[in-house]
Amino acid sequence: MEKGTILVVEDEANIADLVDLYLAREGYRVLKQATGLGALDAVRDHRPRLVVLDIGLPDIDGLEVCRRIRATANLPVIFLTARGDEVDRVLGLELGADDYLTKPFSPAELVARVKAVLRRVDGVAPAEIVQSGRVTIDGGRREIRVDDLPVDFTTKEFDLLRFLAERPGLALSRQQILDGVWGYDWFGDVRTVDVHIAQVRKKLGDASAITTVRGVGYRMDSTSPARAS
Ligand code: CA
Repeated sequence: MEKGTILVVEDEANIADLVDLYLAREGYRVLKQATGLGALDAVRDHRPRLVVLDIGLPDIDGLEVCRRIRATANLPVIFLTARGDEVDRVLGLELGADDYLTKPFSPAELVARVKAVLRRVDGVAPAEIVQSGRVTIDGGRREIRVDDLPVDFTTKEFDLLRFLAERPGLALSRQQILDGVWGYDWFGDVRTVDVHIAQVRKKLGDASAITTVRGVGYRMDSTSPARAS
């Protein structure tokens, strides 16, 4: 039975193979990647249901991989950590790790964690309508309303506002916003983000809850409850 694709990012082949074996036995399709950049490509090309992510990778580390994944997709991530200080970093960075295991770990335990995370994620339906203060972002109708009155938004402005509103309270860098709204393969100036933010703010007027975070980028402040995760 096809239960969906799990991406395993681990440069130690023996660990990757073992995890592959156990997950495949449970009916998951397993993709393996040994580098961080390879993992990002695989996420984009194969849209896995979940990522098992080692922190120590030969190119960019697992935390950075997670940061970039999270900029574009709300994809569950289970970290593999080698040392206690890596655990501290996972927990300290508020990347929203869904779970983590410290090496050496039991593959059966990993399978149990994968199932538990997927059960939890599947229980949460993606919000079609995001309410952010006086602003309503209606994903079904692709419409922005301020105090219930529709405001004309371009496609990119809409995507940008929704991207921020779905991550309330989170300071996002211009690069994260670019990756999330324009895509990884869009090569352009990060100032593009500033230009579009300015447009969005103008259209929302005093209903805008977008805050500039100095040295970082932007954050959506919201009085609406944060998404469950
Ligand atoms: Ca490693």
